[in-house]
Amino acid sequence: MSAVWVEDENETAEANEAVANRNKELKIERETHKLEKRLCRQVGQAIMDFNMIEEGDRVMVCMSGGKDSYGMLDILLKMQQRAPIDFKIVAVNLDQKQPGFPDHILPEYLKNLGVEYHIETQDTYSIVKKNIPEGKTMCSLCSRLRRGILYNVARKLGCNKLALGHHRDDMLQTFFLNMFFGGKLKGMPPKLASDNGEFIVIRPLAYVAEKDLIRWAAHRQFPIIPCTLCGSQTNLQRVQIGNMLRDWEKQYPGRAETMFTALQNVVPSHLMDHTKHDFKNIQTTGEADEEGDKAFDAEEFPAPALPGLPGLPGLQVVSL
Ligand code: SF4
Repeated sequence: MSAVWVEDENETAEANEAVANRNKELKIERETHKLEKRLCRQVGQAIMDFNMIEEGDRVMVCMSGGKDSYGMLDILLKMQQRAPIDFKIVAVNLDQKQPGFPDHILPEYLKNLGVEYHIETQDTYSIVKKNIPEGKTMCSLCSRLRRGILYNVARKLGCNKLALGHHRDDMLQTFFLNMFFGGKLKGMPPKLASDNGEFIVIRPLAYVAEKDLIRWAAHRQFPIIPCTLCGSQTNLQRVQIGNMLRDWEKQYPGRAETMFTALQNVVPSHLMDHTKHDFKNIQTTGEADEEGDKAFDAEEFPAPALPGLPGLPGLQVVSL
């Protein structure tokens, strides 16, 4: 009799576990679907807002083998299928001959994907090693060489646009790096003309948060190539800024998004660059303006959300 009971209990436990597992799977599927939709929406929005891709473009998608460039190519290929315009994608990787670089990974991945691709092999690593004294940072020479090579490759492949995989958090980091260490209010543009005036450089992931790219890379199981092969020292200033932004976000959820929105809402008349706003010739108009600046009133902002608590309506930030 007791054996029957034990059997029943086991069966019930197994059935419960199966249901729990299925629910978990369904939840992951739903979340992944939402993530994919968000990535496509944000990339599509950035493309539209900055007119990044136009009819007939040949876009060279620069692949480093990191999660961001894999994500960029993946989403751009999805966008290409549903875009109302015709444009071409060419994936390009520059193999800089860093020791231990697994040079089979990207060609295999791109071949399986069926996308047009090109691998450019040039030993910039040896040049950099030969010219930069031990202990000095190699990045500036390395990236200068890489830039020149990529322009040549783009020209050879007939591409008019170069897509880079920088995302929202890279842009915020660059903004703070420029402010803290460069004394400039300057970020990383989503679209610009290349320094040689020949190409348009675009950053289709401009609106995408890094944490979404991390999740997408895990879901798609991209064969990621480590980015430490060159042996260059980590940029301590960038690490510092990255940590600062992550700490802020942990303490005040949503702050990164607010700061990113601020980058798209610049008010030169309320900054201090007299070359961007003609302060010298400000005149009175003699007419009241509801939208005008009430210089004597303290600014009011929505209450910040505290971790674990929603924002409190009606609560204002009081500056002392
Ligand atoms: S981290 Fe390495 S590969 Fe990247 S720019 Fe610096 S030296 Fe070059």
